[in-house]
Amino acid sequence: MELIDNFLVKELQINIEASVKSLELQKKIHTIDSIWKRIDRERRQKWNQDIQVKLKKFQRKRDQIIKELKSKYAANKWVDNPFTTCPDCYQETLIANGEYEGICSNSKCSSVNPLTECSRCGGIMPGFSWEFGFCESCSEWMRDQ
Ligand SMILES: [Zn+2]
Ligand SMILES: [Zn+2]
Repeated sequence: MELIDNFLVKELQINIEASVKSLELQKKIHTIDSIWKRIDRERRQKWNQDIQVKLKKFQRKRDQIIKELKSKYAANKWVDNPFTTCPDCYQETLIANGEYEGICSNSKCSSVNPLTECSRCGGIMPGFSWEFGFCESCSEWMRDQ
């Protein structure tokens, strides 16, 4: 922005900051930004409320639910692993799909994490669905480029 600003001031004798249009634009950008932040906050709160209800339900029937998930996975010929790596306890115990998605089934951990798909490879990873992000292996891959 500074570069463009300098260029315009020099070459065209126009200062973006001083122009009415850009002030309006700045206001608009600011408004969009604050609306976006509010929506983000509300969605996170909603998610937290929902997951706490599910967590309570899960904790009452933990063993049964884990058993069901595992037998379903076996019946499905080990396709669609219902567990993914938990970012808190590093065990493959975070439920990746179904009703209890986002709950770590490790009784010593019991953390909750929203799950989404990596924007590059589509792999499951912690994060909110409306956020743009990459899984660890994709992030690593990009760092190496
Ligand atoms: Zn965990
Ligand atoms: Zn990825």
